Amino acid sequence: MALVKCPDCGKQISNQAVSCPNCGCPMASRPTTVKIRCLSDNRHVKRMVFKINGRTATETPIGSVATITANQPTTVDVTIVLGIIGGGSPARFTAVPGKCYEARYCKPGLAFWETQVREVSFV
Ligand SMILES: [Zn+2]
Repeated sequence: MALVKCPDCGKQISNQAVSCPNCGCPMASRPTTVKIRCLSDNRHVKRMVFKINGRTATETPIGSVATITANQPTTVDVTIVLGIIGGGSPARFTAVPGKCYEARYCKPGLAFWETQVREVSFV
């Protein structure tokens, strides 16, 4: 059993609870779709990898839009793949249903890893 944050009231509750004991918000299996557009300022970056709740969900080429589905509450980690080498600190955000995000790798040099994720209005 793990604790998750209620999306409505923010209290920590069991991830197996059917509803939040504090506010009654239903917790069971609420699938949501999140779209993420992959961009990079570094031409060596070919792909981005998304992890949802710790599990690798999809790998998406730069320039494409990833459509990923998971149950709420959903934490998304975005990591980049530079050539054949993967790594770096992931950008992390809690996905909001119906929103679109843009993931941009913004460091041109090879010595730093930085992925910015921001909410965007297109797609
Ligand atoms: Zn609640």
